[in-house]
Amino acid sequence: MFEKLLNALNEKQQQAVTATEGYIRIIAGAGSGKTKTLVNRYAYLVEALGISPKNILCVTFTNKAAAEMRKRVKSLLGNSNDGSLICTYHGFCVKVLREDIHHINYPKNFMILDEDDQKDILKEVYEELGLTIKFMKFDDVLKAIGFLKIGYDYVESLTNPLAKIEIPAETPMLSKVISLYLKKQRKYFALDFQDLINFVLYLYEQNTEVQLKWQNQLHYIQVDEFQDSSGKQIGLVNILSATHKNLFVVGDPDQAIYTWRGAKPAYLVNFHKTHEPCETIILNENYRSTPEILNLGNSIIKNNKVRIDKDLFTYNNNGVDVIHYHGKKEFEEIKYISETINSLVEKDGAKYSDFAIIYRANYNSRFVEQGFMRANIPYTMFSGFKFFQRAEIKDCIAYYKMVLYADDLSLLRTINNPKRSFGKTKINWLKQQAENDNLSYYETLLKYKEEPSFNKTKVKQFIDTIEKYKKLYSSLTISELLRGLLDDSGYDEELRLSGDQERIDNVSELLSSIITLEAEYGEKLELDDYLQQIALFSDNDREVNKNSVKLMTIHTAKGLEFPYVFLVSFNDGVLPSYRSLDKGNENGLEEERRLAYVAITRAMKAFYMTESEGLTNYGKRKFPSRFLFEIKQNLFTRLGVIEQELIDEAMEAFKQPSEEKEVISTEKFNVNDKILHSVFGEGIIKEINEDDNQYIIHFSEKDISRPLSMNFKGLTRV
Ligand code: ATP
Ligand code: MG
Repeated sequence: MFEKLLNALNEKQQQAVTATEGYIRIIAGAGSGKTKTLVNRYAYLVEALGISPKNILCVTFTNKAAAEMRKRVKSLLGNSNDGSLICTYHGFCVKVLREDIHHINYPKNFMILDEDDQKDILKEVYEELGLTIKFMKFDDVLKAIGFLKIGYDYVESLTNPLAKIEIPAETPMLSKVISLYLKKQRKYFALDFQDLINFVLYLYEQNTEVQLKWQNQLHYIQVDEFQDSSGKQIGLVNILSATHKNLFVVGDPDQAIYTWRGAKPAYLVNFHKTHEPCETIILNENYRSTPEILNLGNSIIKNNKVRIDKDLFTYNNNGVDVIHYHGKKEFEEIKYISETINSLVEKDGAKYSDFAIIYRANYNSRFVEQGFMRANIPYTMFSGFKFFQRAEIKDCIAYYKMVLYADDLSLLRTINNPKRSFGKTKINWLKQQAENDNLSYYETLLKYKEEPSFNKTKVKQFIDTIEKYKKLYSSLTISELLRGLLDDSGYDEELRLSGDQERIDNVSELLSSIITLEAEYGEKLELDDYLQQIALFSDNDREVNKNSVKLMTIHTAKGLEFPYVFLVSFNDGVLPSYRSLDKGNENGLEEERRLAYVAITRAMKAFYMTESEGLTNYGKRKFPSRFLFEIKQNLFTRLGVIEQELIDEAMEAFKQPSEEKEVISTEKFNVNDKILHSVFGEGIIKEINEDDNQYIIHFSEKDISRPLSMNFKGLTRV
């Protein structure tokens, strides 16, 4: 039986599978069968050696990868195989703690906190200490807590209520906040993600018997995607393998895409020095992709300076050319993608589920989703929420609707968002009153706004904002309207204070998509038209369709493969991201190149890279990714024309370090400063009118002057 396991493998892979004892390392490029070898090795241990699954720990990086691996093992060994030790690091830690955490005074039914739960605890802490968000953003407090949790000494303060431990922090108040946070964590018997591994390490240190029990149990340990393990995770693996010393690690330093989160690919590179004697096996035959795709991947990753060269080859037959599609507009980009998919489905017998659309940042999904809805292409999102279902996007739409309809649902969504001291009790009162008076909630609010009980709330600001824009909106463009609403309502300020970059990016993306739409529309785009258009995208109830195109970020796509892959929004500033281009971020660009390599090497039959011109979310001109200019021209076919003038401007821009700017910024300007307004274009500050809090700006393109509020956040310096 186990011959079958081996026959499916090449010689080197067989060598890796049968070398069961000691320290073994596989270093190999994408698609060379690392994961396949690891899975078959697991099956071989069980099948040929008779080892019980409970004695084999098999760790991988994401839940999706662990689930996939369990599936593959079951298909080799049958459904009865116990796959519970084929898991992620987090999964393993939870298993250890559910079994043994009581040894350090914590109950086995502890709760696990996600980031929202952590923020809920912080809310309680702030309330008790009489602090407001002005003291410090939650994300910054969480960062400080994360900093404390880099070590694991603090675990004592959670497991032993009598322990006194110093909480080092920038200010005494922050130290107080963190102490109270930990106290509450203890009260709820809760662990966050970072705590999981820390508790295990602390538990093992405190209780050598428990440590020995796990060391004895785990005769064989295998780790996939080792390049993405953190120092602490590797420390845990080292402890666990200390008794039997059978450790098999697999990875590709060219696919290290988590160094920003503390992953240490150097441990894989130096593994043979830290774990002697070590056998290293190098796989260099790629089974996944056509030569065209592989050559493209090789030619990008070659540009990284810090790497071990290990060119992959394949005996797979030649396939189709890699395509680079360059569109003049985002709309053209998605049209090309949709038409190509539909044509392959109709003419070549491809299924929708054979396609993956992958991108660098979650917000890039927005234009794909809109395009697919239009073209009736079924899709499933694998990372993040669908764009128009994200909370912050729904908030923006609800503000729009307040202006147009002031309907009850939109009111409930916006009235206390940002916080205006209009909580549950007041809402209940409002609902009751509305029913008594037979009015809408908003009409009720207008009727009773002078009531004394409203004085303490900021609801007047809300009403003023809505009333102001009810009068003004027909004279504004809808992008100006949204900016005004977010600004005057205080939503924008709260968003910025939250420091939540993902939400800020999403709102910027919404704004810039509206601006693009306005420009394409020709005549003035009316609010009700726009709301009608997007109502299509916000519907919730689309069923999950198995035969659908998959949408995901590159990080989520790691380790997976798909027949057809589109890497979309392949623009500079997206991939590589602006942040990676910052001065002093030397490793940033190399990590982005590895991301591009991971993206390309997901493809089996065909790979498309697409991008388009237009404006970025920072109001700058969009360029194709600098990586596109690193690839030899004969390795792909270009569709669409890039004007020389665009190339020249791009080359100039590539030389500059990035100046990331939020669209939503409140920078102050002086007379003669040059600014960029995303609707009016470039302009010069002519006058500053402090009394009216206004800039008088002359916009050269349209040769008009306009007074703009100094609080208006849509100006960037040029
Ligand atoms: P990545 O670096 O992306 O994680 P990997 O090295 O883990 O890739 P696998 O996912 O294990 O690669 O394998 C890639 C593809 O090649 C899979 O479809 C796998 O079934 C196939 N494959 C691997 N080895 C062989 C082999 N010896 N014969 C035939 N197909 C193989
Ligand atoms: Mg793999």
